Amino acid sequence: MTTMNWLKEVEKRQDELIFCAQEFLRIRSVLDPETAREGAPFGEGIRQALDYVLDHCRQAGMTVKDVGGFAGHAEFGQGEELIGVLSHVDVVPEGDGWTSPPYAAEIVDGKLIARGAIDDKGPTIAAIFAAKLVKESGLPLSKRVRLIFGTDEESNWQCVKTYFQSEEMPTMGFTPDADFPLIYAEKGLTDLTVRQTRESYERLGIPAADGAGAKLLSLDSGLRMNMVPDKAEARLAPLGMEADEIVRKYRAHLAETGLAGTADLADGQVLLRMEGVSVHGMDPGKGINAGTELIHFLASLPLDARAQQFVRFTESYLYRQHYGEAIGIAHHDEEMGPLTLNTGVIAYDAEGEALYRLNIRYPHSLPYEKWSRILQERLAEAGFALEVVEHLPPHRVDPQHPLVTTLQRVYTEQTGQEAGIIAIGGATYGRSLDVGVAFGPLFPGRPDSAHQRDEYILVEDLIKATAIYAQAIYELAK
Ligand SMILES: [Zn+2]
Repeated sequence: MTTMNWLKEVEKRQDELIFCAQEFLRIRSVLDPETAREGAPFGEGIRQALDYVLDHCRQAGMTVKDVGGFAGHAEFGQGEELIGVLSHVDVVPEGDGWTSPPYAAEIVDGKLIARGAIDDKGPTIAAIFAAKLVKESGLPLSKRVRLIFGTDEESNWQCVKTYFQSEEMPTMGFTPDADFPLIYAEKGLTDLTVRQTRESYERLGIPAADGAGAKLLSLDSGLRMNMVPDKAEARLAPLGMEADEIVRKYRAHLAETGLAGTADLADGQVLLRMEGVSVHGMDPGKGINAGTELIHFLASLPLDARAQQFVRFTESYLYRQHYGEAIGIAHHDEEMGPLTLNTGVIAYDAEGEALYRLNIRYPHSLPYEKWSRILQERLAEAGFALEVVEHLPPHRVDPQHPLVTTLQRVYTEQTGQEAGIIAIGGATYGRSLDVGVAFGPLFPGRPDSAHQRDEYILVEDLIKATAIYAQAIYELAK
């Protein structure tokens, strides 16, 4: 048997491929609770997009199933084992500032521009065409192939959660919803809320403002756990210290450190602002955390007892502690890199709660139970309580697993490039499969336009990705 030239097969049908991608991209499949109903839990746009792909696959002779509008699938082939290809038909809202209308799906300079072009409707069409090519090639398969279409990947993943409650988990599979060559490992993700306990600071004899230079009234920094905050603001009431003195000290601190910020007086109170550098919380060391930097300054003031306890805790355990070193949870993994700790939100209210919202990402070689117990102990000693808001365990497929080695080989054969495998601190759709990796569609070196204005996929890359997916499906299912 001669080997298939998958790229040539895709090129023969490239007009149809582009036409379908355009039709599909013209459906505004944004989450819309207003039009949600039974069978369309995320609204009409997403329902229409799901219908589009299921109809297309039905016409191609695949067996399709709609799982309550939460997700759907299309299957062909035969055998015990099941190969899954998981993509999603929903998109994030378009926003403004587009140079080409977000749902026109125009081709400009070789770019197919539309919301969803690269994330993830373009790749969804690539996967469907790839599957059709394999099916129509008549090459014998020993496994079943199932395209699975999720519908709320951009919000809560309710789609895959619901789908896999009733449907078969593929033996192995991939998701075309991230980067080439291949993402095989993703850190565990935790969102935590850490609160100063009332009993701990009441024990300190609050208000106990006697002798304090100033009382910390409030401090606010950050909005999301997974971002390094670039703004922080603190309000202080001068007690033993003059307001002017605090302002002067702060300005001197800014000058000395080169940090950006302001100090103002308002109604006898002091308002301090700090500016930092916001980056994604998966790599907090690359940013400047405005919140912990501002608290670092506050540590030089004689504050009221409750604030002092809060400030001291921040100083000891969070200030420039991007890897949890002082808490005692630092861990470096050869493959997946270090545990990272991001202090995404700080909120202190002298009349109410004082808390941090933390995002901790950890490699698979460090058990969750181990680091979370150490953290819990440290917090308890310091008078803080821990609440786990969300926990996603690490996801990893063995680099020697045939899924990984097969996709690496396919990528190299199709592109002539070496297929290094990637471990990341983020989360891809690949982790919804028990044995799943992310495989494209963004080629190395290409700018990532997902979620941005003028989102696009290069037509050339769409075609190349389709050929890669066709060979991948065939090699995994043969
Ligand atoms: Zn996506």
